[in-house]
Amino acid sequence: METSLIDPFQRAVTYLRVSVTDRCDFRCVYCMSENMTFLPKKELLTLEELDRMCTAFISQGVRKLRITGGEPLVRRGIMSFFGSISRHIDSGALDELTLTTNGSQLARFADDLAAAGVRRVNISLDTLDDEKFARVTRWGRLAQVLKGVDAAQNAGLRVKINAVALRGFNEEELFSMTEWAASRDMDMTWIEVMPMGDMGDTDRIGQYWPLTDVRAQLAQRYTLVDLAERTGGPARYVRLEETGQKVGFITPLSHNFCESCNRVRLTCTGELFMCLGQEDRADLRAALRDHPDDDRPLIEAIHQAIAHKPKGHDFDYSRQNVAGQMSRHMSHTGG
Ligand code: SAM
Ligand code: SF4
Repeated sequence: METSLIDPFQRAVTYLRVSVTDRCDFRCVYCMSENMTFLPKKELLTLEELDRMCTAFISQGVRKLRITGGEPLVRRGIMSFFGSISRHIDSGALDELTLTTNGSQLARFADDLAAAGVRRVNISLDTLDDEKFARVTRWGRLAQVLKGVDAAQNAGLRVKINAVALRGFNEEELFSMTEWAASRDMDMTWIEVMPMGDMGDTDRIGQYWPLTDVRAQLAQRYTLVDLAERTGGPARYVRLEETGQKVGFITPLSHNFCESCNRVRLTCTGELFMCLGQEDRADLRAALRDHPDDDRPLIEAIHQAIAHKPKGHDFDYSRQNVAGQMSRHMSHTGG
């Protein structure tokens, strides 16, 4: 089906990212403060409401769904959501159902995810050092995540590792992480740290490490072949000729991907963010809850929201003023 979601700049919206919870079992320093206040349960869309929401987007031509959070796999009952959404994979309405996870629950859920039609997962992992892992996630344990990586691969899921590039933190692990990922046939993506929320102690763990520098360091050891492949997002890819592995660079602060942007983000409360870098949002929850038996008002609200998708984002690219640029936490919109 052709998408009917075309924004004012003629971009087709075919990719929906859905945050299913704002909660998490980790407290990564660049993402959350130690004492987070989470949303009261009644604010959250139920799993059935999330399903209705996603189904409405799919009916309008969304072809790819990425489930995220917070940590999506800590949401109670989330496997029933995956099990139910998988009908759209079976019917061919959806090309891809995927998720971004910290990996802590994958040992439990990898098989169920594979059964629900998930073929690929992104697992966030910034370091392979136990002590550093505990420090950056505050509450996480590396061994548990590594078991999750094993479980995902054993279940036949293709794994991509996402690492936030943090100067003075994982800089020295650039090659060891690359080689570890290559040895397990996993692609890797480096993400430039974004100024989100009031992080308090980010200064103590790692700072902005520009991906131009990550790339330059990789190029000293490997032959980097630029790939034309684009995903409509802020990632650029190269192939390392020596390992065959794909390495991505996500620079969310750059503007140069906005013209091909194909995505919108739904929060766990039913707000739709049309752009990661803008506070502009549309409330879809009211349209959903006020009409439990009629999807037309919801679909109308989705179209109105897409009609307001902005041309580009508002990050301060000068990086002179990074702290607290965006008051919203990444765990709210799902990164
Ligand atoms: N909990 C899951 C996870 O960690 O993969 C999914 C949600 S998390 C918000 C999604 C991605 O955003 C993770 O890869 C995480 O490293 C990244 N992230 C969080 N805060 C960030 C920040 N301030 N700058 C850049 N990436 C960030
Ligand atoms: Fe949790 Fe993911 Fe944020 Fe870390 S990055 S605190 S794992 S939501």
